[in-house]
Amino acid sequence: MLSVEEARRRVLEAVSPLEVVEVPLLEALGMTLAEDAVAGNDIPPFDNSAMDGYAVRAEDVSGAADENPVELEVLGDLPAGYTAEATVGPGQALRIMTGAPLPAGADAVVPVERTRAVEGRVLVLEGVSRGDNVRRAGEDVRAGERVIASGTLVGPAELGMLASLGHARARCFRRAVVGIISTGDELVEVGEELSPGKIRDSNSYTVYGMVLEAGGIPLRLGIVRDDAALLERTILENLDRVDLFVTSGGVSVGDYDMVKDVLGKLGEMNFWKVAMRPGKPQAFGHIGGKPLFGLPGNPVSVMVSFEQFVRPALLKMMGRSSLFRPQVTAVLDAPIGRRTGRTEFIRVIAEWREGRYHVRPTGPQGSGILKSMVLGNALAVLPEEVGRLEPGAEVTVQLLRP
Ligand code: AMP
Ligand code: MG
Repeated sequence: MLSVEEARRRVLEAVSPLEVVEVPLLEALGMTLAEDAVAGNDIPPFDNSAMDGYAVRAEDVSGAADENPVELEVLGDLPAGYTAEATVGPGQALRIMTGAPLPAGADAVVPVERTRAVEGRVLVLEGVSRGDNVRRAGEDVRAGERVIASGTLVGPAELGMLASLGHARARCFRRAVVGIISTGDELVEVGEELSPGKIRDSNSYTVYGMVLEAGGIPLRLGIVRDDAALLERTILENLDRVDLFVTSGGVSVGDYDMVKDVLGKLGEMNFWKVAMRPGKPQAFGHIGGKPLFGLPGNPVSVMVSFEQFVRPALLKMMGRSSLFRPQVTAVLDAPIGRRTGRTEFIRVIAEWREGRYHVRPTGPQGSGILKSMVLGNALAVLPEEVGRLEPGAEVTVQLLRP
């Protein structure tokens, strides 16, 4: 049997990033930046007021207080978006709004709350020092600074930063199109009536969700009967428009598990027994140059295998520098009985309490108990050699929905 780490290593080695495309800025949200974002100018571009108030020369008002107001001549008003023509000289001030450029001569701003306006003049009721309430040019970002590294997921903050830097378009890795196939004679579509022996296909929905959440473009290619020719046709017909295939079902050793035969015939496939629970049988390889993951059929096996192998591979294809979920150490609140020999992924509820993460299993852990994924927000990863665990034990946890 292959270890989880070794299977993951082989998978990641076998996939490479897709091409880079240039997209309008808003489309970059959820994509991975394919070049460093380097500032072409300072942000903010000029010294400006951090408050509504009066731009002054600090030395003029150094001794000001409620009982000792300093009176200054007011030269005029400066709203944000304009520059001052006047220079602030000794004994003078300019009424200034937040974001307006600091006028020549002034070196500080007195907040309006600490002043009193009187006919063309202002009484300053509190002293300020040079630089007080002034935002310096470049205090956020310096011209030439690398602000966002290539390989970073573009989220709202990155989008705003790219806008600040003047990037109307962004160079990103293309989103991967993932073809999703559910195999099995027992499967019916979600809208269909159940008849004896049939169940609804859920795997193509969980996979759809996981692909979309990872930033890929999911494409449901439907339910394929346990019929080798049908499966072969579905894969070959979609080779041109899909970057990665994910199938579920048909990779174990049952007589009707024909996915193995078809995949083996169509491309270079590996069939692994991975030392994990759930999800032991796995197929991975390439068909017509496109990576294909043959996941086992059980609904939890599908989700856990996707998390361990497909998601990191998908993120690598989409250029991401960080491929894995946040991993933390948590304390176990309930016992877990188990056998050694395989890495086990226990669905747990993780909670932050008293300064650390606590976890407890969601309930029954069978590979068909999809409710465990609904209730859980994390996977506790129990290493191959670790046996029964008592409350209080420390476990490593992958946070799926932090
Ligand atoms: P298999 O690996 O094909 O033997 O399937 C293992 C188990 O997973 C069987 O109980 C199947 O009925 C179930 N299964 C397979 N595919 C799906 C699916 N798309 N949705 C829900 N359950 C499935
Ligand atoms: Mg099957």
